[in-house]
Amino acid sequence: MTAINVLAPEVADAIAAGEVIERPASVVKELVENALDADARRVSIDVRGAGRTSIRVSDDGAGIPADELPLAFVRHATSKVAALSDLDAITSLGFRGEALASIASVADVESTSNGARIHIRAGEVIEQGAGPLLPGVTVEVRDLFANVPARLKFLKSDATENAAIKDVVIAFALLHPHVRFQLTIDGRSAISSAGDGDRRRAFASVHGAPVAAEMLEIVGLPLVTGMVSQPRLSRGTRDGIVLAVNGRPITSRPLAYALEDCYQGRLERGRHPVAAIDIGIDPALVDVNVHPAKREVRFREEGTVFAALQRAVRTALGASEPAHYRAQQPVVGVAAFHAHETQATLGVAVLPLDEGSPSPSSAGVLRPIGQAGPGYLVAEGPQGLVLVDQHAAHERVLYNRFLERLRSGLGATQPLLMPQAVDVDASLIAAAADHRADLATLGLEYEEFGPRSLRITAVPVEMPAGRATAAVQETLAALSESRGDQAMHKAAAALACHSAVRFGDVLDPAEQRKLLSDLENAEESVTCPHGRPTRLVVEWQELTRHFRRNY
Ligand code: ADP
Ligand code: MG
Repeated sequence: MTAINVLAPEVADAIAAGEVIERPASVVKELVENALDADARRVSIDVRGAGRTSIRVSDDGAGIPADELPLAFVRHATSKVAALSDLDAITSLGFRGEALASIASVADVESTSNGARIHIRAGEVIEQGAGPLLPGVTVEVRDLFANVPARLKFLKSDATENAAIKDVVIAFALLHPHVRFQLTIDGRSAISSAGDGDRRRAFASVHGAPVAAEMLEIVGLPLVTGMVSQPRLSRGTRDGIVLAVNGRPITSRPLAYALEDCYQGRLERGRHPVAAIDIGIDPALVDVNVHPAKREVRFREEGTVFAALQRAVRTALGASEPAHYRAQQPVVGVAAFHAHETQATLGVAVLPLDEGSPSPSSAGVLRPIGQAGPGYLVAEGPQGLVLVDQHAAHERVLYNRFLERLRSGLGATQPLLMPQAVDVDASLIAAAADHRADLATLGLEYEEFGPRSLRITAVPVEMPAGRATAAVQETLAALSESRGDQAMHKAAAALACHSAVRFGDVLDPAEQRKLLSDLENAEESVTCPHGRPTRLVVEWQELTRHFRRNY
């Protein structure tokens, strides 16, 4: 056994620094936080060599008094917290007084503010003196982790480290639209936000104008602000989701689930929204001191926070629009090159609407024109021609009706003249038994008929009797896959699917009219319960453009 030693300060410092500064992106995060805490309106970040060579952050905030500049780099030196009780209500992003000290202990740092300058390398002050008299603070961090080779070894590729830096700046740019962020990576502009307070414009600077045009503004009480994408825009990953509390980006799985839950039935499986959501909450109700890098927080009343987020997001999603058809702009060179693939180059894409202003609502009277192809309804609406997937549309209408029956407890049942026996797994019979009353409300009634068989005695009034067997099997399978409300929602979706007109069914004009008007009056009518679109709008404008009737 070796004797117990108190660690030398430089060793202790390097260990402590490791908790706060894991990678170049952590440096960027801490320095940006300091700038925001100082009420900066402009933050410039210049990165070279993936942050290993240098990271330079300058702001136009309140600055550090010249005589306090050395103090800012001392561990546990902070202007943001004084007494223990202050920790109960932190309103700044920083409060631990560790960031600058940590960075200075693992790099070569030069900082200037208010006419003072300091140069520190691996925790040692090398030089101190006069600097430029400019607003705000500038911190330049060079040779990060040069004195901590172990840490250097764990850094990922330049592309990955740069991407992590970009993600940090993206989150702050989306959450603080009134601050102008400029990120350059190896001399090239990576992000440049306007800082004019317009959140949609901030989205445009980060994700591009087409994405920004698809974002819906959210506002709620307690204060939930930000934007979420409408369902016709989605991504294959969760990378487009930014969540924050009081302007501080956080990672929280449960909160992300609460957000994605709002897209249930609006996005297909495996698709994720783009979002930036900030929850403004009384600082006394949230503990941010649970993670050294302040990435995680703990809520005093988690349920209330999640409910507020969901209420705000669901309200915003109420303004979702159906997809609009947009002919692909011919790309001359490409079109010529692929001349033999006429089909492909004439292909169409569903693209977002014009940039900027959200489109007028597509709600209005739909006049049926007829049925086209295997199962599309063609209708005329105020905005243009509307193509409807008759099955998806009917599914949505019936699903909403079934959910309403579950809510009100008032069912509508169609007893079968001849009860039908259905073979099902024993586990599914057990699942069904747990929800028997709800199933009856939906119209589905049965008797147990041996260990692996049910006798169906009634189905929802909307369901053709001949489909009872398949419907029951799928409904029970859906029930057994989830729990609680989710389970009944899935069951209702399965029943709706089996009760709806099929894609190939011929509908007479009266049926078409009824379905179109039911669809118009349905909530969340943009998608079927599985998240597939119910309709496509071909705007008059688009036809005008195509047929050159605009000259
Ligand atoms: P913390 O942010 O937790 O207080 P830091 O080590 O990040 O700790 O910063 C130490 C102190 O230096 C801050 O409390 C603040 O007073 C000052 N400071 C750091 N960066 C800036 C800045 N960009 N503008 C103004 N003051 C700053
Ligand atoms: Mg700080």
